[in-house]
Amino acid sequence: MKSVFLKSTFVTAVSIVGSLALVLTMVPALGGTTGPIAWLMCVICPLFIAFPLAFHTFWQSEKLKVAHDELTRAHAQLATAHRRLSEKASRDEMTGMLNRENFFAALDGSRRKNDRGALLIIDADHFKKINDSFGHLTGDQALLQIASAISRGVRSGDVLGRIGGEEFGAFLVGATDDEARLVAERIRTEVEKLRFQPDNERSVPLTVSIGGTPCPAEANVSELMRAADKRLYEAKARGRNLAIFDDGISEAA
Ligand code: GH3
Ligand code: MG
Ligand code: MG
Repeated sequence: MKSVFLKSTFVTAVSIVGSLALVLTMVPALGGTTGPIAWLMCVICPLFIAFPLAFHTFWQSEKLKVAHDELTRAHAQLATAHRRLSEKASRDEMTGMLNRENFFAALDGSRRKNDRGALLIIDADHFKKINDSFGHLTGDQALLQIASAISRGVRSGDVLGRIGGEEFGAFLVGATDDEARLVAERIRTEVEKLRFQPDNERSVPLTVSIGGTPCPAEANVSELMRAADKRLYEAKARGRNLAIFDDGISEAA
């Protein structure tokens, strides 16, 4: 409001000076004479015409600026909300890992870029027994602990997803076979180290089996899944709590 008043006053002052200059140069040039009445009119006309017009114009433009700022702010808030929503929609609610669809989309994206690395499939062992013995809600707590142990086992930058109820996927970006074996073993031991206590008396062991495969540039997602699944199946068949990457085996001592 203050700036609108000041700007309007400035425009009015300029109009007064302009009018006076015109009257003082034009009227004598046309053979007329100026006097106090003419000078008074040079002040009154701008005051009653220029000031209200300038005030109205600056006031409207100020209102438009405020509305524009509000719109910009609302737009930024909407963009943030949209980003948060799509981020949330791409994640598994329980573990915060990518959901199945987005994990495979990420894997597919890496295939298109021909990224090398390794794929691990990690499946909780005898998980049905946990649910049957302690109930589904306690099972959920165990699942959360397993998910955290997996997150501790991978390297930063690796992509994690929950691809089934008690099954997880890890894409180890750029990992060599030796690095992938190391990560798989680290995940296995992180889970094995868990002390899951469904109540105050008992501590229930949790373990996972892991199947892994290298990701050569030319392999597609289904080929990779099939290869890793095959290793996982072998790990289960060999007694569980075991990581098999390609042909290498690591297991509990
Ligand atoms: P295996 O070692 O062969 O993998 O045995 P398993 O019992 O883990 O495998 P199975 O496929 O027979 O059972 C999986 C179980 O995981 C059954 C299902 O109820 C449980 N499960 C899947 N998703 C969830 C979940 O979100 N919460 C809980 N609590 N349990 C789940
Ligand atoms: Mg299982
Ligand atoms: Mg399973």
